[in-house]
Amino acid sequence: MLELKNIETFYGNIQALRDISIHIEKREIISLIGANGAGKTTTLMSICGLVPARFGKITFMGEPINGLSPDKIVSFGISQVPEGRRIFPQLTVLENLDMGAYLRNDKSQINEDLEYVYELFPILAERRHQQGGTLSGGEQQMLAISRAIMARPRLLLLDEPSLGLAPLVVKQIFGIIKKINSEQKTTIFLVEQNAYQALKVSNRGYVMENGCITMTDTGANLLKNPDVKQAYLGI
Ligand code: ATP
Repeated sequence: MLELKNIETFYGNIQALRDISIHIEKREIISLIGANGAGKTTTLMSICGLVPARFGKITFMGEPINGLSPDKIVSFGISQVPEGRRIFPQLTVLENLDMGAYLRNDKSQINEDLEYVYELFPILAERRHQQGGTLSGGEQQMLAISRAIMARPRLLLLDEPSLGLAPLVVKQIFGIIKKINSEQKTTIFLVEQNAYQALKVSNRGYVMENGCITMTDTGANLLKNPDVKQAYLGI
């Protein structure tokens, strides 16, 4: 579904990604783990066209997408939930969700999807007329994920969905990620520092260090790998 081939991305003269190759098949959950500053967010930015790759090739459903504008890339069915859950704080929960569907005009399906996200996160249904900015951190993350689902993406990119959340909420969010993958058939690319939770739900994972991919394997194998255990799982 998505293929990054020999991607090199720069911020001015600073090289953030070096020869990155990643492939994601339909219906997979793939995680990208690594320390602070490894280049995980930059990888997502390059896919979305927000920080275009200088070298290499990115294809989505067989079509080259590098060099295209971010809104064009979104229109192909790629939605991102950015780090820090950037919702619209002045808008209500419902208005935020409506914004997620702004490219769509299939009204009855939009209403069905709205009911679906309210089922996933009943708290959002209760708070539908409340301003987004007044929600708790966990609820804002739920809203950010729901807003992305409202776009009916083929590929959902999640940047550190567990960041700053209480352990119970983290567990709930990862449960929902699995559910969206199986019920909506959405392919998921998950960037995480919480390597344990991410690898547990993932079919495969990539490990990133200093802008390079240093390891790739199934989620289960990476969880057992001694280097991963020591560097990212604290065991
Ligand atoms: P974190 O988990 O802390 O978000 P990350 O793995 O997502 O880290 P990136 O944010 O992709 O890492 O950063 C990769 C490298 O690029 C880092 O060295 C960072 O300092 C640098 N970088 C990121 N954004 C910019 C920018 N706007 N300008 C210059 N350098 C940047």
